[in-house]
Amino acid sequence: MRTVAVVGTSLAGLRSAQELRSRGYDGRLVLIGAEPPYDRPPLSKDFLLGKVSADDLALADQDDLDALDAEWHLGVRAEKLGADGVTLDDGTTIAADGYVIATGARARTLGPARNLKGVHTLRTLGDAVGLKRELAAGPASVVVIGAGFIGAEVASACRLLGHDVTVIEAMPVPLAPVVGAGMGAVCGELHTEGDVRLITGVAVAGFTGADRVTGVRLADGRELTADLVVAGVGARPSTEWLTGSGLAVDDGVLVDSGCVTVNPRVIAVGDVARYRCRLRGRRIRAEHWTAANEQAGVAVENLLAGSTVTHFARHGYFWSDQYGRRIQFAGVATDDVRVVEGDVVSKRFVATYHRDDILTGVFAIDSPRPFTKLRRAL
Ligand SMILES: Cc1cc2nc3c(=O)[nH]c(=O)nc-3n(C[C@H](O)[C@H](O)[C@H](O)COP(=O)(O)OP(=O)(O)OC[C@H]3O[C@@H](n4cnc5c(N)ncnc54)[C@H](O)[C@@H]3O)c2cc1C
Repeated sequence: MRTVAVVGTSLAGLRSAQELRSRGYDGRLVLIGAEPPYDRPPLSKDFLLGKVSADDLALADQDDLDALDAEWHLGVRAEKLGADGVTLDDGTTIAADGYVIATGARARTLGPARNLKGVHTLRTLGDAVGLKRELAAGPASVVVIGAGFIGAEVASACRLLGHDVTVIEAMPVPLAPVVGAGMGAVCGELHTEGDVRLITGVAVAGFTGADRVTGVRLADGRELTADLVVAGVGARPSTEWLTGSGLAVDDGVLVDSGCVTVNPRVIAVGDVARYRCRLRGRRIRAEHWTAANEQAGVAVENLLAGSTVTHFARHGYFWSDQYGRRIQFAGVATDDVRVVEGDVVSKRFVATYHRDDILTGVFAIDSPRPFTKLRRAL
């Protein structure tokens, strides 16, 4: 292989480039990214809280980036992948023998509110800077739509910054599809214990305000005052540029369990990849930091081999920081949940999930050591 083009220079793209070099690839390496590399998890946590700055978000220091000996195309978007190569929005076309698709995802927006001032989503550093600036204007009524991890972290940060916060969640129990109903309810309690109102089981019907948002209307007729709205309603994979590429795309780039597409010269990693999960027997997009980080090694090994010789078989792991507590989860949630250490009331415990007495998952709050031990046992 003489040229490899990596499209997307955030976590998955950068790690793929590093894996290529560490596995001995010494050909031309082209890195194409709409944004420079930076780490996203702190955006909804310490960055909003003012504990870290943009300079602290680096994924690698300059020496490590230089060591890649790569040709960088930053601030440009890939518009097309075709037989000639990858075409960028500045008109350049780069032909390569191997391609890494690492274009991640972008925040879903709420259609009717898209143009209202004061309505935010949080995916990029630019989003976080904009949100932080508005939060700095003084105490406000903040409505967070969605009690998923990003919504919950934003709610926590806003409350810690002194704002009045309400979280709206359409499902009866937050996070139930991910951590199960029992642990989802515990996550919900973190909001109320953190002095944040949590309203569940009701959808958002609309917004009030002409130019700037003034409130949120709920489907049950209630209306909440809002100076600021943050929508944490999921992310959409960035795949538009692959139309006509011949690759299979359906809520992400479809790849096998080794992150290889239908074309063995093209791999997809990170949030954009919908891979076949051998444990769950279906395709999933992991959308977690550790998956993006670890898939890179597997995918690159397969790209260099020319076929799928190794598989991504890690059990989904993620963490989240809310209200000064660390939540950790790995594996698959089931209805058979057992608290094995600590107690739920104190919000410092470890719970395990089982199927036919086999350990399938681990959930913990503020218990990193026992969590890590059980995660290894998975
Ligand atoms: C606010 C926030 C908090 C998070 N917190 C946690 C957490 O606590 N724990 C956890 O496990 N995970 C967390 N995550 C998820 C984690 O950050 C992602 O899983 C990870 O960033 C995925 O990396 P990626 O490289 O696949 O995608 P991304 O980080 O989305 O990067 C994709 C890159 O590709 C670029 N791009 C897109 N389209 C194009 C194009 N056409 N041409 C060129 N470039 C393009 C984008 O600009 C971007 O730079 C969080 C995410 C966010 C947004």
